[in-house]
Amino acid sequence: MIAILSGFFTPWIIYAGITALHLVLPARQVQGYVRHPDTGAPLQYRLNGRLVLLISIGLWALLGYVGWIPFDWLYTVRWYSLAGACALGLLFTAWIVLPYPGTGKSLVSDLYLGRLENPQFQYGRIDAKMWLYLIGAVMLELQVLSFSAHHYLEFGAAASPGLFLAAALLTFFVFDYLSFEEVHLYTYDFFAERVGFKLGWGCLAFYPYFYAIAVWSAVSLPNPETPGWQLTLFALIFLCGWMLARGANLQKFYFKTRPEQSFLGINPETISDGKKTLLVNGFWGVSRHINYLGEMLMALGIALSVGHPAIVWPWLYPVYYVVLLLPRQLDDDKRCASKYGSLWEAYTRRVKYRIVPYIY
Ligand code: NDP
Repeated sequence: MIAILSGFFTPWIIYAGITALHLVLPARQVQGYVRHPDTGAPLQYRLNGRLVLLISIGLWALLGYVGWIPFDWLYTVRWYSLAGACALGLLFTAWIVLPYPGTGKSLVSDLYLGRLENPQFQYGRIDAKMWLYLIGAVMLELQVLSFSAHHYLEFGAAASPGLFLAAALLTFFVFDYLSFEEVHLYTYDFFAERVGFKLGWGCLAFYPYFYAIAVWSAVSLPNPETPGWQLTLFALIFLCGWMLARGANLQKFYFKTRPEQSFLGINPETISDGKKTLLVNGFWGVSRHINYLGEMLMALGIALSVGHPAIVWPWLYPVYYVVLLLPRQLDDDKRCASKYGSLWEAYTRRVKYRIVPYIY
């Protein structure tokens, strides 16, 4: 019973720790993209995700080293911990939705999508969306480290290099996200989504557990002996994906914040109707959401790296991105068509492909 309870409350304790670190560690104060609905001023954010991540990893290593908490604790209690994270996600949803006025849609819709657009707490020191993404990212990394440690403890010298490669790629993914937190403020989640079950449960339970599924499902499997050249190829698939996703996001970020500045030697080429402007070259000239293709390739690289193609679980990770991003692209296209009108039509005539150049 003690093991069940301690496993169940493990994510609660870790999330409280991450929140405390986020609050007390020094942070950059940055201006966001979305504006306050009453004042019209851009929202302000305190960002220190990478520092919180580094300290969290340091604490995991220290507690494991001194023997207080086994390195693979999160693997040992994974199912109880998942249950605890799900319960917390539900409580958070009720807390962030129910006390606030409805949007005019059904209660189920409000619970799922949320009522508040960009809630901030502690006099603006905590932004709910950035806090949720921070918790999800740091917990994902701790899971990946813990699962990898378990694999090593179980197999020693016979451990699978492919599993460690997948863990390294996920680690890169988390570091990359927390290094570019500011760029994330310019994404769909911030200007088009509210905070409810989708984002709350999504970041507290789904993100840190499901994103680890490739590593999780292979932890207790023997080394599949994937040849080195194949592992190199899988890492390259991931890196190509990262270049597309990060490149597109950064090009758009610079375009929105410093419109004249070139990016990677690409001078911004634009179309305008006199009021609004769209980028039409570089990453945004290849397809209208090349960044989504990038995310899918990164997930594919991770799924392939673990080296068990006959098992269904690692494949769920790239499949999830396809299921998430195809409808999201359609939604975003609709939103942009209504926001930009004939300018968007001109853009879609010029950049014909939605996600995959010459295919879709
Ligand atoms: P985008 O970054 O593609 O943002 C779309 C918005 O960009 C549009 O609504 C529009 O906003 C603006 N825009 C579109 N085309 C142009 C253009 N040609 N020129 C200028 N502005 C343009 O999508 P998301 O916000 O959905 O995604 C952001 C990142 O997050 C992506 O890399 C995505 O892959 C990633 N992501 C990662 C997930 C993960 O789990 N790892 C999950 C979901 C997304 P506006 O009207 O403000 O100009």
